[in-house]
Amino acid sequence: MLIVNADLEGRIVDIRFDQHIDEIASGLIPGTGERVLDAKGGAVLPGLHDHHMHFLATAAWANSVDCGDTQIADAQGLQRVLQQHPGDGWLRGVNYDESIAGELLRGQLDGLIDQRPVRIQHRSGKVWMLNSAAVERIELQAHASQPGVEVDAKGVVTGRLFRLDDWLRERLASDLVTDIKALSDELSSYGITGFTDTSATNTDATAARFADWHSQGILRQRQLLMGGDELCNGPLKVILDEDALPPLPDLMARLERARAVGRSFAFHCVTHVELLFALSALQAVESDPRDRIEHASVVFDEVMPLLRDSGVSVVTQPGFLWQRGERYLKTLSGHEIDHLYRHASIAAAGINVVVSSDAPYGPLNPWQVIHAATERRTSEGKIIGADEGIAAETALVSYLRQPHSLTAPLRSITVGSDADICVLQKPWRGLFDRVADTRVLMTVGNGALIYHADAEIRRQ
Ligand SMILES: [Zn+2]
Repeated sequence: MLIVNADLEGRIVDIRFDQHIDEIASGLIPGTGERVLDAKGGAVLPGLHDHHMHFLATAAWANSVDCGDTQIADAQGLQRVLQQHPGDGWLRGVNYDESIAGELLRGQLDGLIDQRPVRIQHRSGKVWMLNSAAVERIELQAHASQPGVEVDAKGVVTGRLFRLDDWLRERLASDLVTDIKALSDELSSYGITGFTDTSATNTDATAARFADWHSQGILRQRQLLMGGDELCNGPLKVILDEDALPPLPDLMARLERARAVGRSFAFHCVTHVELLFALSALQAVESDPRDRIEHASVVFDEVMPLLRDSGVSVVTQPGFLWQRGERYLKTLSGHEIDHLYRHASIAAAGINVVVSSDAPYGPLNPWQVIHAATERRTSEGKIIGADEGIAAETALVSYLRQPHSLTAPLRSITVGSDADICVLQKPWRGLFDRVADTRVLMTVGNGALIYHADAEIRRQ
């Protein structure tokens, strides 16, 4: 395949690739039958990699309504939110409480929404409530005798399922595939060709499922999985909770076991105490430049030298300032606010800092995350840590880092590199002026066109 008229850091070039980039030059002649894609002078860069996200949770949230949201006060509020949710496939609600609209049997739920299959989970997690479209979709009446399926006096299913999570998940397997495909497409539309799934619950079985979705073409991105002790390859994710820190000897034994089989570490640290604890554990094991601190939400000045000497990278989420900034301002102390999601000063201290999304908890769109790293504004426009902003260009570099080693040389558009390519709708010049509005023209993942802004070309 050939991409022509691409702006490679100010130079217009053509790029020939299969699974790798084979040639970069101007005036390349298309071979017989070779597909040609016109970049129209748009900036070309390596496909982006989001270094911290939770893929399956993001896929699930995309088609979910949080019924516990404070804006949903009554049946009308719930109806409005369900009706307005985009799409026409399965819709899932979570966190439902009877105080909103009472007991939800299929009839009541049909009254709120009946044009698409809907299932709502009670906030206890024990009950699912289905509308009639959902009941029909999974042929629930045929399973009326299954324990946990509620029926009325006439033996007709009511739409309520008690403690049937696994059973329901099995019936909805195709639903999961739809969710994965949709999220993979969304990532492609942002220019993302890879992600690191940082869920501590990932195991070898999860890795096998991801590999399977990848080989079936459902999931188009490359993945690096971190996980717990039941994952053989990939970083060990260590969740620290300052109210329940593990005994240090136990943690050390765990780290040493992981290190012995070549694994690096990623510590989840959102408080000062958690960060100190992680750094003291790291001091006691052999160092590895691949080790990381996830979030480092609060970094006080006195911790900075320790952080630098540990040689870790900090994986931060500036998007939280936008998404949760108003809540931080209300709930955190002034001292914490002043040291929240710092970036510029940590980088100036000689520590490698990488931005990421932490989707679904932070905004997924990398261009929005990059913008947040420069502006540091809350959704109401207040600035948190004005001196901690960085240039958009620097934030973009995060997405070009190697997933396995955040300190290794950047991925680049060079002959021989993987054909993971992102072409933007504007040239390099002026790219960073309004970075949040950046639009992708096309994305190539592992040599295949996985996104094109022109739906006609995408379908070819
Ligand atoms: Zn996370």
